Amino acid sequence: MQGGATGLAFRGRTASIGFAHGPFVRVNAGASGERVAGSLVEEALALRSAIDVASGQIAELAAIAGGEAAQILEFQVALLDDEDFIEAIFASIGEGSPADVAWRSALDEQIADYNSAEDEYLKARSSDLADLRDRVVTILRGGESQVLKIPSGAVVCADDLPPSRFLEIDWSGGGGLALLRGSPTSHVAMLARARGIPMVVQIGTITEVAAEVGPMALLDGEGATLELDPSAEQLRLFEKRRETHRKSRASARAILQRPTASWRGERIKLFINIQRVEDLEHADAQYADGIGLMRTEFLLAERGGLPGEETQFQAYDAVLRWADRRPVTIRTFDAGGDKPVPGFTQDGEANPFLGVRGLRLCLARPEIFAIQLRALARAAVRGNLKVMFPMVTSADELEAGRKLFANVVQRLQADGIAAMLPELGIMVEVPAAALAVTSFRAAFFSIGSNDLAQYVLACDRSNGALAPLMDPLHPAVLELIARTAEHGRRAGISVSLCGDMASDPRCLPALLNCGLRELSVNSSALAQIKQTIDRLSSGGGLG
Ligand code: PEP
Ligand code: MG
Repeated sequence: MQGGATGLAFRGRTASIGFAHGPFVRVNAGASGERVAGSLVEEALALRSAIDVASGQIAELAAIAGGEAAQILEFQVALLDDEDFIEAIFASIGEGSPADVAWRSALDEQIADYNSAEDEYLKARSSDLADLRDRVVTILRGGESQVLKIPSGAVVCADDLPPSRFLEIDWSGGGGLALLRGSPTSHVAMLARARGIPMVVQIGTITEVAAEVGPMALLDGEGATLELDPSAEQLRLFEKRRETHRKSRASARAILQRPTASWRGERIKLFINIQRVEDLEHADAQYADGIGLMRTEFLLAERGGLPGEETQFQAYDAVLRWADRRPVTIRTFDAGGDKPVPGFTQDGEANPFLGVRGLRLCLARPEIFAIQLRALARAAVRGNLKVMFPMVTSADELEAGRKLFANVVQRLQADGIAAMLPELGIMVEVPAAALAVTSFRAAFFSIGSNDLAQYVLACDRSNGALAPLMDPLHPAVLELIARTAEHGRRAGISVSLCGDMASDPRCLPALLNCGLRELSVNSSALAQIKQTIDRLSSGGGLG
């Protein structure tokens, strides 16, 4: 939606739902101040020490924040650890650039690169880099990185806000975030959603006059509106919307505690999607019937290169221990496409989404794949593990993966190491796999509707300009989902759906009507999805 102002009401895009009513605080996250340059040696030492201080600050923030937030900050630490990148800056100091100028221009170049990326995800990383740029410049200029002093419950407004600044704000008293630019796929948006902080992005311009007007602001994350200096009527309507939202969340959470969900007398199994072990800390995760998708490629994004067998085994084992007897479906690495991994994925593909990604890549790099398969085979003896391959096009690929896996198990057992071949399934996310689903000797299927929709509709899933066309409820997508579910029903093979549409209550009637009885959703959507099934069962609408 286009951002813009109507009087003192502004509209943007939803990044995190919820409501905030508090003092309006406009922040500028940039660094300011002047600095006098020293000799070449002094400048080099100043930069080295500023980098060390910045690393320490970020590590401290990461330790306090933990989980996903820590992972986000690692992106910044990884850049500080990139010797080639840092060496080039020191070289420019050697040629006479003051430390802050050399640092800033190197970072500005990187930021421009990320900004020019078509991929929204990569674009969103530029704010992480701007944060790092400003942190080091501030340290070089002798200032502590400005800790933002924000009154409790404030509606914070910035052009954009980097994750570390978000983490410095005390959100314990509530509040919300309104960004003039920003993106719903940015890391700061992920943090806001994880912490339940309402957030609206792409508000556009707030003229300085308007910004000064209202000491109080209303932020509606659902309607994606920001109202400054609200009238009594605006406030009344806002409070009414907030109350409806609160009641709906409270009743959804109560429903979570009921043992099962059912629709037309049939049990609906609700699993959760996780990316990391820490995701299990979400308060609602315990109510899931198991884990329907663990995206393991995020292990690849962590520091220190590709993860070893032991690191992977520990992660898989921790998830199985958490699940106890409940099933856990772990997906093998789905790198490539919009998830490039240095040292693993192929550079320079003209069409990465149609390139060597998912199982294709793993089969092309058996030395990396075998390490994951060893960790999975060892974990399989510890709980109810199922393993699935992503981005499968033909039955031969599944069989090639199975053969590698069986060899790995055989070798482990020959060495006296406890291991077994788990149930093997595939993601149905390539149209060919959905159309030829009967050709696969899979123990289960999991529909990846994000990719299935992108391939059926010929719309790059990360291209915001195609958002109106990228409709997972398109009859062509539903047709393939229904065919897959029908095959599962006839053959007695379990079929679930783990794409984002499973977490969207508006898609539920269509998915149930397609014959699906197993869904895997984000933990934060579990309550609402269960509640929606309940409403549909009792003949109510989506409410
Ligand atoms: C999907 O494609 O629907 C899916 C669940 O996987 P990912 O979003 O990780 O590609
Ligand atoms: Mg996918």
